[in-house]
Amino acid sequence: MNIILLGPPGAGKGTQSARLVENHGMKQLSTGDMLRAAVKAGTPVGLKAKAVMDAGELVSDEIVSELIDAELEALGSDTGAIFDGYPRTEAQAGSLDEILAKHGRTLDHVIELAVDVDALVERITGRFSCAECGALYHDTANAPAKEGVCDSCGSTEFKRRPDDNEETVRTRMEEYRAKTAPILPGYEARNIVTRVDGMADIDAVTGSIEAILT
Ligand code: ADP
Ligand code: ADP
Ligand code: ZN
Repeated sequence: MNIILLGPPGAGKGTQSARLVENHGMKQLSTGDMLRAAVKAGTPVGLKAKAVMDAGELVSDEIVSELIDAELEALGSDTGAIFDGYPRTEAQAGSLDEILAKHGRTLDHVIELAVDVDALVERITGRFSCAECGALYHDTANAPAKEGVCDSCGSTEFKRRPDDNEETVRTRMEEYRAKTAPILPGYEARNIVTRVDGMADIDAVTGSIEAILT
């Protein structure tokens, strides 16, 4: 099974990917996570990407498609892939088709997480994650059960992304509208798109996605 989770920043792609990984043993392929790891490690890709990410703009198609190709190369053919935050442009969508074909995979579902624009800023400015295990939280909608302690690993260290501020979020939303939303019609023509109400609570969204996968 190979699926794309598509939606604007803050739609819930990372949150839902984590659940699919846990429930189905799939592998999450998040270009955002890969790029943040490259920035942290100071690799050539990271050095190139940092300023672009801080501005909320899109990193080059070649860079992200190469990251995806390398991850799929390393992934066992029995393990399903969840594409989270990729593809984000028509060029990337074309590359993904080629990369999947090369690895003998086909795209089963594109799941569109539909969310009100107004909710996105609130979601993103309230987002934080565990510094130890990466579990995702939100100040109000999804806080740890015990304040200051990660539900998953017990760590008390958390972090916020430098690009999760209101100004950058607006640029990221505009990039989504201008460059990413236009890839949907191509997938719709292939009859593989299902729209899910991303405004529902986190468990309900998971339920809708599970219904698509079974
Ligand atoms: P979010 O989950 O909030 O949408 P991501 O973690 O997916 O954000 O991406 C963070 C940043 O990394 C983006 O704003 C962009 O600069 C860069 N990025 C991630 N994925 C891609 C991609 N597929 N193409 C171009 N840039 C990307
Ligand atoms: P994306 O990967 O699409 O950028 P995330 O999964 O990181 O989005 O979610 C953004 C923020 O919104 C996080 O703080 C997360 O805890 C919260 N969130 C995710 N899904 C929901 C939901 N259905 N309702 C309310 N808050 C949510
Ligand atoms: Zn943790």
